[in-house]
Amino acid sequence: MTEKILMDKPIVEIDGDEMARVMWAWTKEKLILPYVDLKVEYYDLHINKRDESNDQVTTQAAEAVKKWRVGVKCATITPNAERVKEYKLKRAWKSPNATIRKMLDGTIFRAPIILSNVPPAVKFWKKPIIVARHAFGDIYDGVGIRFDCPAEAEIVVKQSSGRELRAKFPRLSGAGVLQGIYNIDSSIESFARASFRYALENKLELWFAAKDTISKVYDGRFKEIFKSVYEEEFKEDYEKAGLNYNYFLIDDAVARAVRSEGGFVWACKNFDGDVFSDFVAAAYVGSLALMTSALFSPEGHFLSEAAHGTVQKHYYKHLRGEKTSTNPTATIFAWAAALRRRGELDGVKELVKFAGKLENAVKLTIERDRIMTADVAKVSEAAINHIASTMEFIEAVKRNLEKIRR
Ligand code: NAP
Ligand code: MG
Repeated sequence: MTEKILMDKPIVEIDGDEMARVMWAWTKEKLILPYVDLKVEYYDLHINKRDESNDQVTTQAAEAVKKWRVGVKCATITPNAERVKEYKLKRAWKSPNATIRKMLDGTIFRAPIILSNVPPAVKFWKKPIIVARHAFGDIYDGVGIRFDCPAEAEIVVKQSSGRELRAKFPRLSGAGVLQGIYNIDSSIESFARASFRYALENKLELWFAAKDTISKVYDGRFKEIFKSVYEEEFKEDYEKAGLNYNYFLIDDAVARAVRSEGGFVWACKNFDGDVFSDFVAAAYVGSLALMTSALFSPEGHFLSEAAHGTVQKHYYKHLRGEKTSTNPTATIFAWAAALRRRGELDGVKELVKFAGKLENAVKLTIERDRIMTADVAKVSEAAINHIASTMEFIEAVKRNLEKIRR
């Protein structure tokens, strides 16, 4: 029996809800605790715990990630009216992800888990395409007006300096709709910095795409800020690493992405990122359970998670005592990413190695043993040996981990 791997500093563990929480506990119990002398600072974001603490626990978890720099988060319920009833909540608390993202000023990077038996729908793709979505402003924080006859319209900005700025729309010739959106330089800068840093750390090219030929002021400002952050803070390191930063027009970028072999980080404005992260996920792996997600701040704070939610429907089955074939792959990879990051920051090589082995054990289980959960079986090209329940899959991964661990 080899000894457990010792850690230096803790990982901030943020627990969550429903089936995701069940898989979380199983992953820890079977695949991590037997091998790592796990140090964590634990925050329970179960919906009832958030409710009891008036959501203070979410803020505390984000503060802890700032302090310890590495966290791993389980999917959590973002309550709506139905959930308020279901869990007897005081109110519909805000999305924990939004709260944490705001506090860390972070950008979300979504990456596919590439498996040889799940070929991408785009046959040229060989290396990951990681979509970085700016999660601030644009239509998500815009205003809209519907008008019912010909009209004139202008935008008025009352600056705190007292100076007013105005821009006129063309004459509105009949009933219609109008929309105003905004962004803030400092947020664009953080987004650019997080994107450049993430791509550099992962030795990938960075793409940023917008439509500055048409949206001269708005997209033009994004382009300018990306350029200046690159030149002032990253150019030297990119050149040393042999990496490029590319600005493309968004339509050009889409065409290039489809024709490329992958291997880049694609920084997208909020709406573009909303669309293209789902597009890349569906075209790459066909299942949200094969997507990981990392929140990465401009200062390098890191929070990994699975891209999927709490898998509510499977949880109700689980509660009825039925076995489910929910896929824990993204959960296992989220833990691996946090262990790797912790190991890298603290210089604990064993932890970095273990993270790689954990990921390999999952890949061996699906690719070589052809044991997989139902969602992967649906998109697998190769013959399938066994469609496993969640626990059977974890046990199969464990058998492989035992073999490759030494
Ligand atoms: P979801 O939990 O991602 O599940 C949607 C469907 O995707 C599932 O019903 C299942 O399809 C499939 N799926 C997702 N993950 C899977 C996995 N690991 N293995 C197998 N299949 C998987 O999204 P949702 O049902 O819309 O949301 C449920 C709750 O999650 C909501 O309360 C929402 O607020 C929360 N949520 C949290 C996060 C987060 O914390 N990061 C993200 C998204 C949603 P089949 O039923 O067809 O098998
Ligand atoms: Mg979307």
